[in-house]
Parts: sequence; structure tokens; C-alpha cells
Amino acid sequence: TTPTPRRPADRSKVYMADLESALHYALRVEVARFSVLTGERVRALKDFVAVLAKYFPGRPFVRNFLRSVDRWLRNARESRIPYSGLEFVTWVGCQGSEPHFRGYPCSLWTLFHLLTVQATRHRSVDSREAARHSVLGAMRGYVQSFFGCRECAQHFEGMAAESMDKVRSVDEAALWLWSRHNRVNARLAGTETEDPQFPKLQWPPPELCPLCHSVVNRRHVWDKAAVLRFLKAHFSPANIFLDYTE
Ligand code: FAD
Repeated sequence: TTPTPRRPADRSKVYMADLESALHYALRVEVARFSVLTGERVRALKDFVAVLAKYFPGRPFVRNFLRSVDRWLRNARESRIPYSGLEFVTWVGCQGSEPHFRGYPCSLWTLFHLLTVQATRHRSVDSREAARHSVLGAMRGYVQSFFGCRECAQHFEGMAAESMDKVRSVDEAALWLWSRHNRVNARLAGTETEDPQFPKLQWPPPELCPLCHSVVNRRHVWDKAAVLRFLKAHFSPANIFLDYTE
């Protein structure tokens, strides 16, 4: 069944949401059904993307995305194109030095950090509503039920079971996710999942946030108040770039 829209659409208009949904469905669902594209399908995809890159009147980042997919496809000499190769070009901040590095897991962390920070801007008065909109709870559930890396999901569930219930405020939630992500970074540093071009660091490093770091009795300590301020600025809508040019 189709969900009923809250407001009836204006029939005299064309909606960007429909167009972007069509692109999303075509490229991410239908084309993705073929893990390797060959023959006629390679040609069909190249022609389709070439037309989209030339004529789709989308938002700047969508047009940039289409142009870079088009460029990638035009340069692909092989008659067999792995879909994973196609996906590779869609990442910007999460682009790895090889297709198997970074990408989706990196973007999932980014998304959930962003959501924990957004939640700090919408203080709920009602505690039931606050519970329903718990970002950490939603992340825990999503990772448990859907995240493709099952080993990762198990590790994450371990950390969640240990301490997620102790989180008492939206600020604490943003910090909880930050510190658990750093634990994961520490565990994975130097392993084969590490992209050599993007070493696993305790984040944010001093270059990004000098005030987050201090030294007490010759030991490194985080200034949590500074970290929270940094998270709120870094994962803020004002710091989300819609446009990017190579
Ligand atoms: P990521 O660790 O993915 O980080 C993405 C971006 O977030 C970074 O580029 C940086 O800008 C920012 N960032 C980094 N640290 C922090 C922080 N502490 N707070 C806020 N922002 C930060 N891989 C495994 O091999 N084993 C696992 O058990 C495992 N568990 C995972 C559990 C979850 C829930 C998720 C989402 C991923 C997991 N992964 C695991 C994948 C792994 O954590 C990385 O996502 C992946 O290796 C890609 O790393 P990356 O260098 O792109 O940076």
C-alpha cells in the first residue's frame, strides 16, 4: 500500500523528491541487483548515466555525483563492471583509498554522530517522547537488526549492553557515542581493516581540536566539555557541505 501524503501534492507541479527517489531507486536498488554488469547492461547504464549527468537539473551535489559516476563509467574500459566499483565513486568524506575501505560503515558512524548532535538541539519536555526519540536506542536496534557486518554488530551490542542505559541526557548520548567510537578506533588501529591513508586515530586529533586535549600529571586527558562543543560544531547542519567539486 502507498502511504497517504500528509498534504495532497499540487498536481500542477513536478517534485524534486520524486525525481531524486527515482534516481535512488534506479541506481541503488535496480542496478544494484546485478553485482557484476556485463554486455548490454553496461551500455544501457553508460547511456542512462550520460543523459542524467548532462540533463538532470538536480541540486549541486546530486549533479556532481552524476557527473563523477559518468566520468568513472566512461573511463571503465572493461566490459564487466562490478557494482561495488560504481558505489566507490559516491563517497566523498568517506572515500577510501581502495573500494573495500571506508564507505558505508564510515558514513553510518557519521550519520549517527550527526543524529546524536541534532537531538541536543531538540530538548524534549516529555520523558516518554524523549525515550521514543532516543538516537542511541535507534542506533542499537538498527545495528542489531540490519548492519551487514555481524561481527561489528556483536561488538557494538556488547558496548551498548554494558553502559548505554546509564546515559541520562542528550549531551551524554553524544559523548557516549564519541567515546565508544574511539574504543572501536583503538581496537582496529593497525589491523587489516585500517585504510593506510586514513589511520585510526583517537578522534578529534589535536589538529582538529586543540582544546579537546590536555595533559594532567603527564597523562593525556580529554576535556569533555571541549569535546562536546567540538562535536556540536563539527556535526552541525552548518558544517554539512552540499556541494563538492573535485
Ligand atoms: P570511521 O571509524 O568509520 O569514522 C568515520 C568518521 O567519523 C571519521 O572519518 C571521522 O571523521 C569521524 N570519527 C572518527 N572517530 C570518531 C569519534 N570517536 N567520534 C566522532 N566522530 C569520529 N570494523 C571492524 O573491523 N570491526 C568491528 O568490530 C567494527 N565495529 C563497528 C561497529 C559499528 C557500529 C560501525 C558503524 C562500524 C564498525 N566497524 C567495525 C567499522 C569501522 O568502525 C570503520 O567504520 C571502518 O573501518 C571505516 O573506518 P574509517 O577510517 O572510514 O573511519
